[in-house]
Amino acid sequence: MQESLDFNLLKMCADCGACYEICPSSLHLDGYDPRAVIKDILKGEHEKWLTSETIWQCLECHYCLEMCYQHYGFESAMTALRRLAASKGHFPPQLKKGWDLFIKSSRLGDPAMPARKKLGLPAPAKSGVDEFAAMLEAYKESRDQ
Ligand code: SF4
Ligand code: SF4
Repeated sequence: MQESLDFNLLKMCADCGACYEICPSSLHLDGYDPRAVIKDILKGEHEKWLTSETIWQCLECHYCLEMCYQHYGFESAMTALRRLAASKGHFPPQLKKGWDLFIKSSRLGDPAMPARKKLGLPAPAKSGVDEFAAMLEAYKESRDQ
């Protein structure tokens, strides 16, 4: 954790807590408490959060980063924990489903064609899946060299 997070900034965050007032997840989800998570990171006890749904409840809305006097804090900690959790194979099943769909179609969801038709919307633009697949292949090749 110390390689991916600035502990000096996190220490200030652990004492601050101003973001509770604007974080939508803190305001609406029982038990969502980024400061408790940050305190555990500082104590070296982050492992217990890797299998918790809490770290996936951050909406990445960036409110906390925008208002933070040090442009750091709640979101940075949650993002670092999610990356670590995912690298160890801990993530919600919906995430894997979304990822698989993205790799297959270069979309994060299938367009709701009946609803589009009902609203008189035109057909969605081509997904760009071929270009995406080519970019992914090029990335894999450059990574393996
Ligand atoms: S980015 Fe996450 S932690 Fe920050 S305000 Fe939004 S939901 Fe809360
Ligand atoms: S993210 Fe910034 S403003 Fe929010 S609690 Fe931490 S230090 Fe305070």
